[in-house]
Amino acid sequence: MTYPTQPTSSHFVNGAYLEDAAGAALPVIYPATGQVIATLHEATPAVIEAALIAARDAQAEWAAMSGTERGRILRRAADIMRDRNRELSILETYDTGKPLQETLVADATSGADALEYFGGLAASLTGEHIPLGGGNWAYTVRQPLGVCVGIGAWNYPTQIACWKGAPALACGNAMVFKPSETTPLCALKVAEILHEAGLPAGLFNVVQGAGDVGRALVTDARVDKVSLTGSVPTGRKVYAAAAAGMKHVTMELGGKSPLVIFDDADLDDAVGGAILGNFYSSGQVCSNGTRVFVQKGIKQAFLTRLAERLADAKIGDPMDEQVSFGPMVSEGQLGIVERYIAKGIEEGARLVTGGKRLDGQGYYIEPTVFADVTDEMVIAREEIFGPVMCVLDFEAEAEVLTRANDTEYGLAAGVFTRDLTRAHRMVAGFQAGTCFINSYNDAPVEVPFGGVKASGVGRENSKAAIEHYSQLKSVFVRMDRVEAPF
Ligand code: NDP
Repeated sequence: MTYPTQPTSSHFVNGAYLEDAAGAALPVIYPATGQVIATLHEATPAVIEAALIAARDAQAEWAAMSGTERGRILRRAADIMRDRNRELSILETYDTGKPLQETLVADATSGADALEYFGGLAASLTGEHIPLGGGNWAYTVRQPLGVCVGIGAWNYPTQIACWKGAPALACGNAMVFKPSETTPLCALKVAEILHEAGLPAGLFNVVQGAGDVGRALVTDARVDKVSLTGSVPTGRKVYAAAAAGMKHVTMELGGKSPLVIFDDADLDDAVGGAILGNFYSSGQVCSNGTRVFVQKGIKQAFLTRLAERLADAKIGDPMDEQVSFGPMVSEGQLGIVERYIAKGIEEGARLVTGGKRLDGQGYYIEPTVFADVTDEMVIAREEIFGPVMCVLDFEAEAEVLTRANDTEYGLAAGVFTRDLTRAHRMVAGFQAGTCFINSYNDAPVEVPFGGVKASGVGRENSKAAIEHYSQLKSVFVRMDRVEAPF
């Protein structure tokens, strides 16, 4: 590797870096140049076994510590992440190609927030006392699940490792985390920092590999819970495999979310929301509002202002902090986006701006806007996971709500309007796990995040995540005599 933040080996198991060169080579490609910047190795069965044994062995003692002690370690890790934000952001940019301008504020910082938040909650994870008749009573004990497997997508490798690791560890679980094979570097740094903060060996392990490594983890009888961030097709497979072993699951999957802009919206705020909801991270965000429904009266003004603002996008070297728009994560993802753009043109959508791959090195494609998109077009129905905004026209509130919900997905939805009651009516009707009023894509750790319908099961972040990394034991206590029929 050629940069200073390099992890030293492919895996992190039982508190230390681990290499096993017998695993298939896993080249790490910097999306801005297409060059190989590191070569890791996929986990062999021996590495997977070592990670699971380490997790299993370490978990009981960790669970026996007080929540205050566990939380202190997580909060210390949050401080280390913040101290090293620049270094971690550079690594995130190497892994994903996202502009440093973004990674400096959205990745290690979000990971640190999760470690701090769940570190703070760890001491408050209690059960309850339930008084019953006759002087009898019951109490509940909140217990960890055991060994949790985390499987990540490639768009937010640091954040996803922390969003899964922090609540799992706060509740007293151990974790084996498998990053996406496209972005394997960042989770190793998360493991390194957790252990530097004092996390006992074996509690947060990172193993590399593609779907087959994930499959080996999900189907292992020693695993109690699986948390996946990925696409709906992968989610269906992983959910089914976990169900066969009766394991707990969290599924954070894809979306095709609606963003509804009414005539009375503040134009610049609405355009800003649509930009954030389509072009941040080059459009590679699960909750993006990629179906932008614009009411007819504001349509022309919206498209004009959008084109003006897009002209200010600075596309280029993601390490240049002035650059606001970077490459796609991989050649493969770029190809998918190009095919969707061609499909949009073929289906008769009007290409307003963008649409072309940039000449030269790296996986760059222009921010792209289609107008006059209709509900049945493929680009309006399928998740593209790239910088392609579809603008659809609408006239009436009831009509747009029905159309907004006409999708198998249900991750997020947004509305821009100055009419307070209409905003809340719309939100009440949206079939989505996360809604935004006059905003888009905020994801603070205090707020539950997750989808409905095909977009997922369970919630990450907030106190809600605790429910998905712990279970209650109920204890009945009889104070009077036992009455038996004979
Ligand atoms: P994939 O579904 O392709 O992969 C997700 C992860 O699952 C990867 O680590 C992948 O490994 C692994 N995997 C693949 N097959 C299996 C299997 N059979 N068993 C176990 N693990 C498996 O998603 P992408 O990485 O392409 O990410 C993009 C998708 O993620 C989009 O649909 C996006 O919407 C969604 N996403 C959802 C978010 C949310 O919070 N709701 C947030 C971010 C993204 P490998 O890649 O190494 O093959």
